[in-house]
Amino acid sequence: MPKEVKKQIIVTGIRPTGDLHIGNYLGAVKPLLQTIEKYPDAEIYIFVADLHGLTDNEAATVAKFRFEVVKDYLALGLDKYINTGRVHLFIQSQIGELVSYLSLFLSRYTTFNDLMRVPTLKEKLRANQTEGQANALLGYYPILMASDILIHNATIGPIGQDQLPHLEKTREFGAKFNAEFGEVFTLPQAHSVENLRILSLKGVGKMSKSHPEGALFLSDSEKLVKQKVSRAETATEGTISPNLESLLTIAKEFNVNTAEFLTDHMAGKQVAGLFKKELCERLADFVVNFQKKRATIADAEVMKIIIDGGRAARINATKTLDIVKNVMKFNYIK
Ligand code: AMP
Repeated sequence: MPKEVKKQIIVTGIRPTGDLHIGNYLGAVKPLLQTIEKYPDAEIYIFVADLHGLTDNEAATVAKFRFEVVKDYLALGLDKYINTGRVHLFIQSQIGELVSYLSLFLSRYTTFNDLMRVPTLKEKLRANQTEGQANALLGYYPILMASDILIHNATIGPIGQDQLPHLEKTREFGAKFNAEFGEVFTLPQAHSVENLRILSLKGVGKMSKSHPEGALFLSDSEKLVKQKVSRAETATEGTISPNLESLLTIAKEFNVNTAEFLTDHMAGKQVAGLFKKELCERLADFVVNFQKKRATIADAEVMKIIIDGGRAARINATKTLDIVKNVMKFNYIK
């Protein structure tokens, strides 16, 4: 008998933490859209991680942005896939009690010390909080995230290089549970995407919403986009710098011809102005078109999409959680 080919299930989350910038688009949204294209037969669960958002944001802020980010993603091209029936877009808290329930079971399979070794957690503790200040949700993050993924039996985990440590942790939890109770969970694979890192247009570091002067937001006006791009840091003629490289990456993604510019620039010619002018036009067009499309997406439409998505997610998650409770002999007597 031919071996049954397992259907691919992809699960990925979106952070509802504020206005998206071009780094988010190129580093997270575009790779997601490319992944959907790459796996035409896959079932895809995309959730807005509002419960995770509570780690370092006020509940009301998260509640506001969870709808805004859905609109952003739809306007950036996710809308095209919603009616295919294989892409389920929902808010994490719509199945909150199911993922938190599973996360509680999974908590048995890690120690405090193991959690402290998760690199993203260590980074956050180093960057802005001490262990005495950080709330416990920060430590719990990898467990909740593992539940988000395992509850849907994902074959492919979250998209984005920065998520790899979490995916490893997810596999670890799943494997430990399986070793005790049998093959309950699928252990998800990573889906490698190009690791684009867009730098701030000003100074050092990644483009990020915490440094708005160096970030190109999708909500910026056409005028502001042009202003920010024309003031972006490049490099002295004949030299290259990380800022210029990052600008070139953006340019390539927006089909600006960079080869000629680079040859002339390295030959010492003053061509940055011309290059930036073309980049300004492309980016301004992109942002204007995005905003126009976004304005046509009605709240009621967003609501319908997430209600449908949440329903599909609930059916799938309930099945897994029932199996988990059964194998653990933790079900109520019926
Ligand atoms: P954040 O809201 O900052 O957590 O970003 C959400 C996702 O967007 C991240 O997981 C990255 O995949 C992507 N991202 C954010 N900033 C950048 C950047 N400067 N360059 C490339 N990708 C980024």
